[in-house]
Amino acid sequence: MAGLPVTLLRASLSWVARRLGRHTVDFVDEEPDTPAPRTVYVVGEDGHQWFAAFGCPCGCGETIKLSLVPGDRPGWRIRRHWDGTASLTPSVWRQVGCQSHFWLRKGRTDWC
Ligand SMILES: [Zn+2]
Repeated sequence: MAGLPVTLLRASLSWVARRLGRHTVDFVDEEPDTPAPRTVYVVGEDGHQWFAAFGCPCGCGETIKLSLVPGDRPGWRIRRHWDGTASLTPSVWRQVGCQSHFWLRKGRTDWC
């Protein structure tokens, strides 16, 4: 049986999620200078996750950076779902600039 390779299937699902305006996860070893919209970059190396970086969903143009190092305070955990979408725990509350407060759940921004 010639099935669709899993990697291709996942890439397609991630594309669909993106088209729906969801945030998707991209694992990188260096943060890009200009983050693509609705892409949560997980920066790390050798299986370690250091931080997540993504453009603020409010549209203010700021890049939000969150520590993913276990034990860091404040620190976050990120989950990449089967369709490539991102969930962050706990919520994000910017103390500077736009003061945005939101949850990122399965790629969707839930404003507080
Ligand atoms: Zn903002």
